[in-house]
Amino acid sequence: MRIAICPGSFDPVTNGHVDVFERTSKLFDVLIVAVFHNPNKKPLFDMEERVELLKLATQHIPNVRIDCFSGLLNEYARQQNTNIIVRGLRALSDFEYEFQRALLIKKIDPVIETVFIMTSSEYSFLSSSGIKELAKFGGPITGLVPACVEDRIHQQMAKF
Ligand code: ADP
Repeated sequence: MRIAICPGSFDPVTNGHVDVFERTSKLFDVLIVAVFHNPNKKPLFDMEERVELLKLATQHIPNVRIDCFSGLLNEYARQQNTNIIVRGLRALSDFEYEFQRALLIKKIDPVIETVFIMTSSEYSFLSSSGIKELAKFGGPITGLVPACVEDRIHQQMAKF
C-alpha cells in the first residue's frame, strides 16, 4: 500500500491545498493530510479547528485521512508506515525553503523521500497568509477557499 503524507500548517486550508490533495490522492492508495504544530507561527485556528476544516474540505476525496502531529516529521512518517512526504510548490521562492527542508530531513533520516507537486496555475498566487490578510480587512475570499469553510474564516477573523 502506497501512503503519502501532505504536512502543513493549513491555517486555514485554501483551494490551492485542496487541489494538491486531489491530485496527490490519485497517485497514492492513501493520502494523510497532517496538520503540524509550527512553533514559529501564531495560528488563526488551533490544531483541532484546522483538522475539522480540513475534514470538511476533503469530504469528496475518498482515500484521504486527516491527522495532526507535533515533533519530527520523519518519526511521524515512520509511525504511519511510509517514507513519502508530498509538498506543493508555487513559485521559485518556495523552492529554496522546500529544498532546504527536504535535504535536512533526508540528512536525519535517509529513507525519507520528499516529492513535489506543482501548483495549478490558477492557484499559484494563493497562500494561507494571503487569505488571512484579505479576510482581516473584509476582502472577498469566495473561490479562494472551500465554500464550506468560508464562513468559519470570517467568524474567526471577527474574534481577533
Ligand atoms: P507550511 O507552514 O508548512 O508552509 P502551508 O499550510 O502554508 O504549510 O502549506 C502546506 C503545503 O501546501 C506546502 O507544501 C505549500 O507549499 C503548499 N501550498 C500552499 N499553497 C499552495 C498553492 N496555492 N498551490 C500549491 N501548493 C500550495
